[in-house]
Amino acid sequence: MQRGRDIEHVTAVVVGAGHAGLAASRYLTGRSIDHIVLERGDVANSWRRERWDSLRLLTPNWQSRLPGHRYEGPDPDGFMTMPEVVDFITGFAKMSAAPVRTHTTVTSIGPVDGGYRVVTDQGELRCRAVVLASGACNVASVPALQQAVPSSVRCVDALGYRNPEQLPPGGVLVVGASATGVQLADEIRRSGRPVTLAVGEHVRLPRTYRGRDVLWWMEASGVWDQRYDEIGDVVRARRLPSPQLVGTPERTTLDLNMLSAAGVELVGRLATVRDGRALFSGGLRNQFALADLKMERLLDTFDEWARTHSTGLDVGPVERFAPTAMPASSRLSLDLASGEIRSVVWATGFRPDYSWLHVPVVDQKGYLRHDGGVLEAPGLYALGLPVLRRRKSTFIHGAEDDARDIVDHLAGYLSRQGRS
Ligand SMILES: Cc1cc2nc3c(=O)[nH]c(=O)nc-3n(C[C@H](O)[C@H](O)[C@H](O)COP(=O)(O)OP(=O)(O)OC[C@H]3O[C@@H](n4cnc5c(N)ncnc54)[C@H](O)[C@@H]3O)c2cc1C
Repeated sequence: MQRGRDIEHVTAVVVGAGHAGLAASRYLTGRSIDHIVLERGDVANSWRRERWDSLRLLTPNWQSRLPGHRYEGPDPDGFMTMPEVVDFITGFAKMSAAPVRTHTTVTSIGPVDGGYRVVTDQGELRCRAVVLASGACNVASVPALQQAVPSSVRCVDALGYRNPEQLPPGGVLVVGASATGVQLADEIRRSGRPVTLAVGEHVRLPRTYRGRDVLWWMEASGVWDQRYDEIGDVVRARRLPSPQLVGTPERTTLDLNMLSAAGVELVGRLATVRDGRALFSGGLRNQFALADLKMERLLDTFDEWARTHSTGLDVGPVERFAPTAMPASSRLSLDLASGEIRSVVWATGFRPDYSWLHVPVVDQKGYLRHDGGVLEAPGLYALGLPVLRRRKSTFIHGAEDDARDIVDHLAGYLSRQGRS
């Protein structure tokens, strides 16, 4: 890297020192491509600052692996707490001697002279290639109908939520039943508060299947390695909610039946809030049936794979699970002004933030247009997004294959342009 007249010149810039950016850095170093990783906070910033207190990974420890770095502790089937995840990723950054510049926020990236001008709050850089690894979950996606929630009800989103004590005493409406929604509904219910959970489209999975972690099956059967260009409707696959899974030492299954049994009231998707009343969709039965059916199909896929790979396979007998039970009565509306509900927790997903990216590669909804992480602007790449190149792309163990592919492409681009 050369410094000159306050503008630094470097071949490549990586935005973000989460696991994805660090994986890219490892491969860039492996190819001797001069680069720098810019990080607005510290390494593993999202896991330090943007997760709730009790969160553990839902992926087992044995699956925590990055290029040349993997979990080697005594509990391969356990699930890391947030401090453990931070240690794991920080350990990776140290091991690979990643050139990270922390507390440096990228405020603008735009094209210049066949490369890119990267402006940060610490100065300016010029580079030939950029890898955007700034995360898929920078902002909580909260529906506009939040505006109609009465002001007497406290609203908290999944990035702002830390623990139940932060909520006022009384009833809580949790909106969304993906991994985040079911975990928060469970935790808040355990704190003694009445919880209503608004359930839309969701992905049901048992924690263990035939004696193995369900994510072992995802990996062994090849489901997680499925490439983006082999998936029929990749746009839809990229928008699918995260599976209803939780990582606990007891390897608990956290599905809607379990939540119902714990006293959580299930209602349909939150359709709107009108005159202070939350109105829920009547399609709960259909949502349950669809999620049960998809789970059955996935288990069939695992069984089929097991049949054809049975030699030496240590798995239990085929299992099937009770369908999701319809509540005896399901409310279609709830008066948010009555005092029954004192807070709403929006577990309605996350989205990336590219407000600082001044290259025409972002669609109207704020998502990157890309082909497996290769953007329409030469030398510009992305990592860490859902189903970027494979179904596993957004997970820690998905970064290795994607980062290698992306850096291969980047290296090819540089050599075609003629590296200086
Ligand atoms: C609640 C939750 C639970 C999850 N659980 C699991 C799990 O159990 N297992 C699993 O494998 N995955 C899990 N994931 C998914 C995934 O691993 C995370 O989203 C992960 O953080 C993505 O890694 P990343 O490196 O792509 O992004 P991030 O970890 O978000 O890293 C992006 C980095 O970019 C930095 N950054 C952003 N904008 C700028 C800027 N303008 N300038 C400089 N720096 C910037 C951020 O500070 C951050 O450090 C979970 C995600 C969430 C939200």
